[in-house]
Amino acid sequence: MHNHWNLRDKLIKKITQNGGWVNTHTHLDRAYTITPKLLHLANKHLHEKWTIVDEIKEKSSISQIYDRMAFAVEEQVKQGVTVLGSFIDVDDIVKDKALKAAAKIKETYKRDITLVFTNQALKGVLEPRARAWFDEALGFVDIIGGLPAKDAGKEEEHLDVLFTAAKRLGKLLHIHVDQLNTKLEKETESLIRKAKEYGLQGKVVAVHGVSLAAHPEKYRQKIYKKMKQVGIMLISCPTAWIDSRRSEERSVTHNSIAPVEELIEAGIVVGIGTDNIADVYKPFTDGDVWTELRFLLESCHFYEIDDLVKIATINGRKILGVDL
Ligand SMILES: [Zn+2]
Repeated sequence: MHNHWNLRDKLIKKITQNGGWVNTHTHLDRAYTITPKLLHLANKHLHEKWTIVDEIKEKSSISQIYDRMAFAVEEQVKQGVTVLGSFIDVDDIVKDKALKAAAKIKETYKRDITLVFTNQALKGVLEPRARAWFDEALGFVDIIGGLPAKDAGKEEEHLDVLFTAAKRLGKLLHIHVDQLNTKLEKETESLIRKAKEYGLQGKVVAVHGVSLAAHPEKYRQKIYKKMKQVGIMLISCPTAWIDSRRSEERSVTHNSIAPVEELIEAGIVVGIGTDNIADVYKPFTDGDVWTELRFLLESCHFYEIDDLVKIATINGRKILGVDL
């Protein structure tokens, strides 16, 4: 039988031949924490959700976090994910419970999947207790993570803490930026500046970069050129941001996703991630990697098979610092 029309199967076959799916961005320690009772909280603004998860984090034991992560990892392995990157909360609320669960998970599943962990700075990195937990996490994580918007008004200082640590430890940086789909955000630009300042070319990954698409073409092209110069890579999590709220802000027409087809054209390394799975941020996300790639290709009108395969495989490995 010749299923010439079945491009999905052909694409997935190529992904398998290239080492399997790489899911570069998740928050496994919070996966499957949504319940019908919590669903209404999904309507809160992103910035409120940063603290809404506190209660679950506080109440969860290491073994409860372990069990949720184990289920999540098994669901990923079933789909053919061979490398998986996850942020892990480490702060004054969850303390090191999720880190401890993550360490155990890494050991349990080491034959099935390569797990790469990054610290999530949900409380920022400037407030003294938050900073202490950030420092504590550095020894454990493979990649240093950041969320400059959490230290609003002091984003530069937040980045300085991250970049100083990355420089000292020789680790990659994954930083949540440009998440709100507005041309008021220019966070990718600050990553470019800092990467240059600290000499961390090729070490910095912008996570999301949705707001890039809200800027005029001239600005976008300028940013791509600079990203290429300093080797900034980008992770797109398509379904995580497609729910961006309608607003009265005027901007160029675009879908709420990083302009992946333009980034690829400009020679930027782009990977894909599912982001939050079945939690208060994304209650209906099931962690299906094909769904993410499908959303990416549809919302960016991007049908280059070989590039899509790279996005789902080798680019992800580069982004997570995992060799083939
Ligand atoms: Zn994230």
